Amino acid sequence: MKTFDYMRAESPEAATRDGGGEGTRFIAGGTNLLDLMKLQIETPGKLVDISRLNLAKVEETEEGGLSIGALVANSDLAAHPIVRERYEVLSRALLAGASGQLRNKASTGGNLLQRTRCYYFYDTSVGCNKREPGSGCPAQGGFNRILAVLGTSDACIATHPSDMAVAMRALDATIVTLKADGDRRRISIHDFYCLPGDTPHIEHVLEPGELITHVELPPAAKGRHIYRKVRDRASYAFALVSIAAIVAVEDGRIASASLAFGGLGPMPWRDAAVEAALVGQEPSRAVFEAAADALLADAQGFGSNDFKIPLTRRTLIACLTELTGG
Ligand SMILES: Cc1cc2nc3c(=O)[nH]c(=O)nc-3n(C[C@H](O)[C@H](O)[C@H](O)COP(=O)(O)OP(=O)(O)OC[C@H]3O[C@@H](n4cnc5c(N)ncnc54)[C@H](O)[C@@H]3O)c2cc1C
Ligand code: SF4
Repeated sequence: MKTFDYMRAESPEAATRDGGGEGTRFIAGGTNLLDLMKLQIETPGKLVDISRLNLAKVEETEEGGLSIGALVANSDLAAHPIVRERYEVLSRALLAGASGQLRNKASTGGNLLQRTRCYYFYDTSVGCNKREPGSGCPAQGGFNRILAVLGTSDACIATHPSDMAVAMRALDATIVTLKADGDRRRISIHDFYCLPGDTPHIEHVLEPGELITHVELPPAAKGRHIYRKVRDRASYAFALVSIAAIVAVEDGRIASASLAFGGLGPMPWRDAAVEAALVGQEPSRAVFEAAADALLADAQGFGSNDFKIPLTRRTLIACLTELTGG
């Protein structure tokens, strides 16, 4: 591992002041960043430890929503009584991720910013446009079983690996940040992540040194919640496909639907066309198939990940059937 300077931040303001320099990184749980440093994929010259900042509270907001501190551990968030009761999809998504030990260390902010699990990204003996811009994308003609079928570009076909972020996208979360000049930003999760285009190394809209302080959820939407994760092992594996869904049925029709998808795209994926195909309809196989068609209209496989397209279709139809009794 390359040598680096280490300092512990005393306050969020101090963290943003110290965290903005070239080659400086915040470290929270360290469960992703340290792995990347050991492999020399991340080579920061300075680490600013934010893990002891007072950002680990879960509190109700005045609007009836929830504020989640950036340092709330994934396990604490999953077990929080309000999350379990009102935001069940989030609790389920968190518990579907990683392992108990990892969830105890993994933080809310770090989980949102974890890097892709593309095999080639981790293999420094080959090129990778995300790791080293302009060096190519061996995944496109290589082994791409776990990679994306939506939102890809000629430069990169990686997926975002987070389960938590998929649930947060279905829940319309807002990411709140602090910048070195003292400015705060409120960024909708829908605008937080970037498509790869020809700059796959730029994955989100945060500026250098911008600290996530907390994440806000709006008041819980009505409806039944589900988080279904299809993976190679029953636990301790990333999603091939996952679905976070909140669907309400009133008077025999789908009154509202909020669906986000993991394992399919470079960001937790949401498509308004899927929800439009459902809302106002009587639940039926034909309606669910139309929703799947809307989601997958532009899907493109790259060989070993072709199976994700029919798998997603079947998984979505099964989730909608379970949620609506359709
Ligand atoms: C074996 C293994 C299996 C896993 N399985 C899953 C899985 O199935 N599903 C899943 O979702 N995840 C999985 N994970 C990933 C795990 O959830 C993440 O590593 C973890 O959530 C990252 O959080 P952290 O606090 O450790 O982040 P860190 O490693 O500390 O940081 C990650 C990145 O976020 C930045 N950062 C951290 N906090 C902030 C902040 N407040 N503001 C700005 N930047 C910040 C850091 O600078 C760094 O770039 C797995 C990890 C491992 C090692
Ligand atoms: S898919 Fe993206 S992360 Fe994977 S090798 Fe290609 S450029 Fe790198």
